[in-house]
Amino acid sequence: MSLYEVPITTIKGIGEKKALLFKKLGVTSVGDLISFYPRAYDNWADVTPIAEVTHGERVVIRARLAAAVSTTRISGGRLLSKATVCDDSGYMNLVFFNNRYIDSMLRYGEEYCFMGKVQREKYGYQMLSPEFASPKTGDDITPVYNLTAGLNNRVVMKAVKEALSMLPQVINDPLPYDILRRYDLCPLSFALQNIHFPADISAMEKARRRLVFEELLVLNLGMRLMKSRSREQTSITMPADYSGEFIKTLPFELTGAQKRAVVDCVNDMKNKTSPMNRLIQGDVGSGKTAVCAAVCYNCVKNGYQAAFMAPTEILAQQHFETFSKMFDGTGITIELLTGSMTPANKRKARERIEAGESDIVIGTHTLVSESTVFRQLGCAITDEQHRFGVAQRARLAAKGEHPHILVLSATPIPRTLGLIIYGDLDITVIDELPPGRTEVQTLYIQSDKRDRALEFIRKQVDEGRQAYIVCPLVEEGDDAEMQNANDYAAELMLGVFHNYPVGILHGKMKAKDKEAVMAQFSNNELSILVSTTVVEVGVDVKNATVMMIENAERFGLSTLHQLRGRVGRGEYKSYCILVSDHSGDNTEQRLSTMCRTNNGFEIADMDLKLRGPGDFFGNRQHGLPQLAIADFSDTQTLAQSQEAAEYLLGVSPDLTHDATRALRAEVRRLFSTTGEALN
Ligand code: ADP
Ligand code: MG
Repeated sequence: MSLYEVPITTIKGIGEKKALLFKKLGVTSVGDLISFYPRAYDNWADVTPIAEVTHGERVVIRARLAAAVSTTRISGGRLLSKATVCDDSGYMNLVFFNNRYIDSMLRYGEEYCFMGKVQREKYGYQMLSPEFASPKTGDDITPVYNLTAGLNNRVVMKAVKEALSMLPQVINDPLPYDILRRYDLCPLSFALQNIHFPADISAMEKARRRLVFEELLVLNLGMRLMKSRSREQTSITMPADYSGEFIKTLPFELTGAQKRAVVDCVNDMKNKTSPMNRLIQGDVGSGKTAVCAAVCYNCVKNGYQAAFMAPTEILAQQHFETFSKMFDGTGITIELLTGSMTPANKRKARERIEAGESDIVIGTHTLVSESTVFRQLGCAITDEQHRFGVAQRARLAAKGEHPHILVLSATPIPRTLGLIIYGDLDITVIDELPPGRTEVQTLYIQSDKRDRALEFIRKQVDEGRQAYIVCPLVEEGDDAEMQNANDYAAELMLGVFHNYPVGILHGKMKAKDKEAVMAQFSNNELSILVSTTVVEVGVDVKNATVMMIENAERFGLSTLHQLRGRVGRGEYKSYCILVSDHSGDNTEQRLSTMCRTNNGFEIADMDLKLRGPGDFFGNRQHGLPQLAIADFSDTQTLAQSQEAAEYLLGVSPDLTHDATRALRAEVRRLFSTTGEALN
């Protein structure tokens, strides 16, 4: 039986109550516990002399008790224990709360190692509730786990130790022997032992590399298996190329990059046995919509329907309007299908879709629900794909007889990460903006300059332009430093902008209300739109020339870049004003990057460097499974795991070979959290 099927309560000291706490950490079985890897390590050998500690730092000191522990009772009957310790360089006070046993654990005159955060106080430094150990215990490096209220590190450590002891003598290693050898990886049993309780730093690093490799390999295999399904044969071919006659009707000349993108898609759909599987990556404003329209036109003229899925109602609505205008007079019918439509209207739309009366269907994820049936879906397009899970994309693909798939993304993703999420998608990059665009000028200011910035916005509005102001919160939160859209808008309406129409937009509003506000803004009935990041995606108001972002430090660079893309879409010179009083966490470096460049790829790379991949993979929307140990910053291991995945699938395309069957089980387990059935 797998340890993933053994409940955690079989471990000594873990009853129902503790099990519930562990559950909060995602740990329910003994197997989970074993793969609950430490978040960090404490190195008890790394001792700092007391004279050299600094305020706020977490350190280890090695010191002797200079006096016996003294305990007093304080309010609420709680116990407060104090001790003074010293080493050759100085003295420090230790404070413990409510620990009845502390005076028997720490003896006068004896030496211990103490670890904790130091604080400066009147006469020197103190440590609050430090952990401690005898200098002789030998375990220099101890694991630090993610915790939850009620569970301390010591309890988790003990439980993990116990769980490790339940591993069988001989562990079945899912990595085939030749992979271990080729990439110089340690065996699983060594890895599990040393990731939790490393003998030394180099053992920990070995263990880590092996586990990261394995996890990335399993992720790679899963993504590839999932994609190979969408690489099935298709009978949908579109032999004739009608895109030229459509492009002629557009009010502008396509850029070279747009033309190349159309050609790529048309060729993909021409006479191939496998369906198109293409990603178009183009910075905000690069004109992806027109490319899609040409692809849809070509699809319809070849006798099929096309579907275009957007991540939000607002965006679906906007695409619907854009398409309706572009296709006016072509005889092609455009259908809108979104979640907020009345059931009756939805039903009617679906009937038309099923009957084949709608040629191009634009919608939200409602499009992929089971009750939508296409008569002859030839091509499915998803916009701003990073908002869709991989699974949703697959579901849209399953709507027809292997339709052609086109994915649009405005989020430039560093290449190493792109290889994982996009795997074997063919990629077209639109690396050119339509002519006449000037770069958005970006300024980074502190809040003492806010009034001047608002004055600047007022001048723009007086010239007829419009502005966005983005706040991180909808309403007042715990953190008084954080701006919220409601109060901010109220202040503007009472202050500088009392004579101007100001609107509010945020995610807590009903879809209908959001749309109404967005419509007002795009009709220039509102001068200022105070909003949360819901404006991030795709909306297109050419008359808007200023984007001011409050608490700019709160947002990842990629988000800032997306937000900034809302302005500079028309003929007017545009501005982005980043407001932040925050220092630290690379804030200055990050925000200066925004001022320096408008290049999305450069920004994405910088974001990855400064903040790690969390920004790209931080939430589950991407449909990627939760990883236990790997991240994507280790590009070498990433590349190796990719190579190994390719090799293994070459040997056994569905991993049913004896040597890979255990890996197959791992793939299934990893992806079980995504709701994606990988059979
Ligand atoms: P995105 O790639 O961000 O989706 P859009 O497709 O919304 O960009 O295009 C942004 C704006 O640029 C739209 O208003 C569109 O009409 C306009 N546009 C697109 N292509 C061109 C072009 N070749 N020349 C001029 N304007 C264009
Ligand atoms: Mg777009």
